[in-house]
Amino acid sequence: MKLIFSFLMLVALQVSGQPKVNEQRIEKHVLELAKIGIDSIGRNYRVAFSEADRQGRAYYMGLMKAAGLNVTIDYAGNIIGKRKGRNPQKKPIAFGSHIDMVPDGGNYDGVVGSMGGLEVIEVLKENNITTEHPLELIIFANEEGGTIGSMAMAGALKMEGLKVMTASGLTNYDGVRANGGDPEKISQAARKPGDYSAYLELHIEQGGILDQEKLQIGVVEGIVGIQHWEVTIEGFANHAGTTPMDKRQDALLAASKYVVAVNEAVKSFEGRQVGTVGKITALPGAYNVIPGKVIASLELRDLSSEKIAMVFKEIEKRAADIAKTSNVKISFRNLNVTSMPALMDKGIMAKISAVAKQLGYSQKTMQSGAGHDAQEMAHITRAGMIFIPSVGGISHSPKEFSKPSDMANGANVLLQTILMLDKE
Ligand SMILES: [Zn+2]
Repeated sequence: MKLIFSFLMLVALQVSGQPKVNEQRIEKHVLELAKIGIDSIGRNYRVAFSEADRQGRAYYMGLMKAAGLNVTIDYAGNIIGKRKGRNPQKKPIAFGSHIDMVPDGGNYDGVVGSMGGLEVIEVLKENNITTEHPLELIIFANEEGGTIGSMAMAGALKMEGLKVMTASGLTNYDGVRANGGDPEKISQAARKPGDYSAYLELHIEQGGILDQEKLQIGVVEGIVGIQHWEVTIEGFANHAGTTPMDKRQDALLAASKYVVAVNEAVKSFEGRQVGTVGKITALPGAYNVIPGKVIASLELRDLSSEKIAMVFKEIEKRAADIAKTSNVKISFRNLNVTSMPALMDKGIMAKISAVAKQLGYSQKTMQSGAGHDAQEMAHITRAGMIFIPSVGGISHSPKEFSKPSDMANGANVLLQTILMLDKE
């Protein structure tokens, strides 16, 4: 009976003909990379452009070569592993992620997509599958410092961006050079729309939705846009003992109302937009002086720029009311560090969803509240993202964890989506 059952299983497998990824191999690679970049006091410090980053990249490039890829580094310091397709006329299908981390970060953010992408190549090699399209596995440089490598590839990186100091102690300019790129030629790292057939990225969710709802796969519909404002509230600094309560122009009291107003304004609209006041300074900052001035922040995120503008307008309106009743001045200055929302390709989303269904995984369509390389790649090609659960919704922390089975599920979806795209 057992024998017949095994035989039937084998037939079923051959009929479906779907190669599967190797969960143990993915886990082994993730854990091996995690050993690189632990500093002298035990922190996880594989930040972009550090010595540990270079060691991690060397380890990864070794794996790429062993899997038969032709490995190069572009002018932006991105690692690109190429695999030939049957039809060189077709534009490559690209996929990948990043292996740099935030200071004292986790071992799964970026790494799951990097090792999942590598696993796709391993499985194709083991099964002697040559795709029609050429394939490019890309490990982007300095994702955590502002998607530097993918911005360069999308042609959106400016010289000012290269001058920015990174957690490694090197500027992006020097870091790109240290990692084998050439900052002077970085504009040549840019790809044109149409150079790629598509870009796919597997990533951990970095939030708690999939984990809480016990779902296996997230089909990402887009990456939210982010806008920042510096908010100045001007009142009048005066003696805290001699100024009666009804004669005050207390900037911090108005700021408290502003913080509440932001929260209420954001929640007054339907949707998943989020707004945060994360920074506040009261001046002059003394026990016995009524605060005369407050510098605060405002951050808004949503998939739609129009929604962000609408929520901001509502906040401005409520702030004007507060200014009037509190006898202060409130002004907003938009800081130019905004990122535009990036929508994923609807056709690719449908393919990811169909593949997840075929493989029997539970799924949900969702937005990404965190930035990713895919948001830059979406400017030059059709892009799609696959999320897997982060246990407890924890990310950017050494406590970050994704189960090996979830990593394998995500890699299987990545593999089958690539194969489906290849049939186009
Ligand atoms: Zn990431």
